Amino acid sequence: MELHDQYGLTPVINARGPFTPLGVSRSTDRVASATAEALSGFFVMEELKDLADRTIVQVMGGEAGAVVHCTSAAVTLSVAASMTGTSESRIAALPNTEGMRRTVLLPAGHAIDYGHPIMQDIRLTGATPALVGSDARCSLQELEENLARPGVACLLLVSSRLTRGEDIPLAEAVAAAHRHDVPAIIDGAAQDFRIEELLGAGADLVTVSGQKYLRSPTAGLVIGRADLVRAVRAQEKGIGRAMKPSKEAIFGVVAALRARQEMNRPVWEQEQYDKVARFTERANGLRGIGAAIVPDPTGLPFPRARLRVDAAGAGMNAAALARALQSGSPQIWVMAHDQEKGDLTLELIPLTDPELDVILSRLSELLRPVPD
Ligand SMILES: *Cc1c(COP(=O)(O)O)cnc(C)c1O
Repeated sequence: MELHDQYGLTPVINARGPFTPLGVSRSTDRVASATAEALSGFFVMEELKDLADRTIVQVMGGEAGAVVHCTSAAVTLSVAASMTGTSESRIAALPNTEGMRRTVLLPAGHAIDYGHPIMQDIRLTGATPALVGSDARCSLQELEENLARPGVACLLLVSSRLTRGEDIPLAEAVAAAHRHDVPAIIDGAAQDFRIEELLGAGADLVTVSGQKYLRSPTAGLVIGRADLVRAVRAQEKGIGRAMKPSKEAIFGVVAALRARQEMNRPVWEQEQYDKVARFTERANGLRGIGAAIVPDPTGLPFPRARLRVDAAGAGMNAAALARALQSGSPQIWVMAHDQEKGDLTLELIPLTDPELDVILSRLSELLRPVPD
């Protein structure tokens, strides 16, 4: 809280998950001190990038890995790599794509907006995105037909709770791309816990966020085929200049990856479950609230707390409750994407017990019966 006091900033309890407008995640002291220590040193940056490469491969798998500024940058540079390879003249030419394959296919339901449209990450390279299928459905046959078109640079798939429509089997979509000699990129920004599965689907490159569940400083990781990762790194002489990793981010990522490697997954997963169970049990006593433990829709290994708001019992609907939580002090932010259905969802991973107490006491104040 020191910085909040020092600069008069709004205190926030973030139960919305790794949300960019709220500062995404909380780093551990170990990551913070590695990051701070980096700031006062000079380094041969290529050595740092090689260190990141080795650490990513050890902890996450793949043939090679690179750190770039963020996941948005990772998507842009992965697309660029698929168009240019390591050709210096092509890298220098972007976003002029003359003479290159320049169509980037993606299922229509994967054209997500995570605060800005992923389509713009593609267009930034000079490529032309082409949507396949509809928001509701993109069949493998439709993908296959489009992959046969001339000039396809890559297939971009997204693994996120933000995608729309029927799930697309990733391994089969990747296999279809490979039948047409087209590389497949999967954006799994928040899917670092499922990286093995995404690489296992055969993806040529997977992009992952450092600052989301890995809890490093802001960074994007690109993991996969060695030649394509080299081509991503080579973009720093071109459009990647504005998307480069800082020395402190690289040290922070390396420390966060080491922590992930040493993490006792079963113990951590049990702790997350227990925390959500304790919270929902207490929330179930509140007027007009039905609380439940719900799994992550993408298969992340932790649950969230869902509050189903009965407007008549609670005296307000879910949207009004979310607004009221956000307008108090500290501001309490929850996931409100299903508020029309009467549901608010809370992600509790980074929160302390005193913060959970604040949320529950604010809820009970807001839901107190009006005295007559
Ligand atoms: C958060 C997110 C991004 C962007 O990540 P940044 O590191 O903020 O650029 C991209 N894709 C998906 C699916 C995301 O969830």
